[in-house]
Amino acid sequence: MSYKKLVDGFDAFQKEIIQSEEKNYYKELLEQGQKPEVLIIGCSDSRIDPAILTNSNPGEFFAIRNVAALVPPYHNGGKLRGTSSAIEYAVRFLNVKHIIVLGHEKCGGVEALATGNYQATHYHNFQFLHDWLNIGIEAKEQVFKELECSSDEKKIRALEQASILTSISNLLTFPWVKNKCDVEELQIHGWYFDMKQGALLEYNAQDERFSKLCNHKDGTHFIKENPSICTFIKNYEQECTCHS
Ligand SMILES: [Zn+2]
Repeated sequence: MSYKKLVDGFDAFQKEIIQSEEKNYYKELLEQGQKPEVLIIGCSDSRIDPAILTNSNPGEFFAIRNVAALVPPYHNGGKLRGTSSAIEYAVRFLNVKHIIVLGHEKCGGVEALATGNYQATHYHNFQFLHDWLNIGIEAKEQVFKELECSSDEKKIRALEQASILTSISNLLTFPWVKNKCDVEELQIHGWYFDMKQGALLEYNAQDERFSKLCNHKDGTHFIKENPSICTFIKNYEQECTCHS
């Protein structure tokens, strides 16, 4: 998409939505402020727009997008923490009721973590990606150890899903996130967008595996405790159809 297409796109949006009496949802959003019930933590990847995937309108969820949808661990001595600040605002001020960590197939960030091509010694000479992607380094070590004899495709898909679990474990290190989960004021979900199948998979905390997203009513699908990456890999290995 060219820059010009974005400018033309806003022009069309202004005519169709903002200048329309019925369709201009911003009037109501301006008067009432935002009250989203959901925080989505997704990847910056240009193909994975959570609003498009969920057919959502402005005001319906609060969003964080970063490289590989990663959440760093809680660290109260830290400074300049963009992702942690946005989580804090969503949980402590907006009082969201759900947090969804949305990972995806063919994630460039996870592939870089898997291959090590983000390191400062690599020809790109990246300055920041190394520390950021290292949030997932333990998951990488576990996946590569357990699936040593599997194909790269199978390992990377496992790491894409295990990275979602790492982000969820790190979310639970934020004391006010954990407290709200314990008293069931907050539910955490792990979603994986399978681009090839055009399907959303959800981590089921009871089965400790990702399976097709459906509208659960029993409340057993969301995550209260740290997910075990080890058990996830064992279940994954039995089920994954990527050739080994
Ligand atoms: Zn990605």
